[in-house]
Amino acid sequence: MPYFMMPKARPTSREVLADLVSFDTTSGNSNLPLIDHVEDWLRSFGLEPCRFPDATGTKSNLLVTIGPEDVPGYILSGHTDVVPVKGQDWTSDPFVLREEDGKLFGRGACDMKGYVACCLSKVPHFLEADLKSPFHIALSYDEEVGCIGVRSMVADMAGWDLKPLGCFVGEPTKMDVITGHKAKHSFRVTVTGKSGHSSLAPNFVNAIEYAAALIMKIREIGERLAKGRHDELYDMPVTTSHVGVIRGGTQLNIVPELCSFDFEFRSLPEEDAEALNEEVFAYARDVLEPRMKAVDPDCGIGFHLISSIPGLATGADEEIVALAKHLAGRNGFSKVAYGTEAGLFREMAGIPTVVVGPGDIAQAHTPDEFVEISELAACDAFLNRLIAHCSA
Ligand SMILES: [Zn+2]
Repeated sequence: MPYFMMPKARPTSREVLADLVSFDTTSGNSNLPLIDHVEDWLRSFGLEPCRFPDATGTKSNLLVTIGPEDVPGYILSGHTDVVPVKGQDWTSDPFVLREEDGKLFGRGACDMKGYVACCLSKVPHFLEADLKSPFHIALSYDEEVGCIGVRSMVADMAGWDLKPLGCFVGEPTKMDVITGHKAKHSFRVTVTGKSGHSSLAPNFVNAIEYAAALIMKIREIGERLAKGRHDELYDMPVTTSHVGVIRGGTQLNIVPELCSFDFEFRSLPEEDAEALNEEVFAYARDVLEPRMKAVDPDCGIGFHLISSIPGLATGADEEIVALAKHLAGRNGFSKVAYGTEAGLFREMAGIPTVVVGPGDIAQAHTPDEFVEISELAACDAFLNRLIAHCSA
């Protein structure tokens, strides 16, 4: 199938989306074929995008600035990676955009190539407008595996002389303005015990039982937090704890030597997340490990950080919120429980940031993921108003 983003072509957001969806940018894959395609098209307009590659050279962020470079501007941020389709039951090829009943189906159509497509389709319009402040389109990799890729690009922005006026992260919010999201810290815990025949169990160290003790501690912290700080703008108004995976043991008559499990805290941005992590580490170190080591000093509990994403807490009275509400035609704002790259723009670079984008998060990551055509139209209108705002 021919691409819509041919040199100097002016594709619609939907046509750009068809191009973007055709690249299988599942986080485990290279995103370079997509980046090459977008970069070639941008260069055909005389633009000079900048790459921020990963250490392996198989993935990259892409940043392009359009408009005057001597004044601060706005960042339009989206991730290029998508979650796997493996094991999901799709009606049609997930990497071929398909229309039915006013919906566009395809992996990433909603999360979040739809927003990226809207932003890219505006490039020719940005170039024609008499922009008083520039746009920076910032495309990242490896968002779905812990907001890893975007960090090198945001670190670069943190050093810019002109601090951007604001950033719009286009995760699917049905164009609602989102001013806050939770922080997430997740860890893999490895419990090392001492193995032996289960008939002599008390002489050994049961890794599963110590893992269970630590899991109950994590649950206890969660129960305490459920009675603590509340923010009713979240659908889950409290900080939560959760254990999602556990592995351990070989057979019933062997005291298990190894057990590992994964846990997370999803905390309100105002919560001291580090203190929660430390409470778990301290319980392992000060309460459980001494008992284990009394049997065998080689026993112990190790923690490996899986991911750490800061929360977002943009103030309701900040200019970026008023602007986003105006552009989206909304009176209010809300907050979401899932993490996004927005917290990193705020925390690492101090950039006023909101989340606002087309599509419904309920369709993200699902088989037959889709975005409503009307949602793309709403995002196109949002961007047209932003162009007018920046050309005034
Ligand atoms: Zn996303």
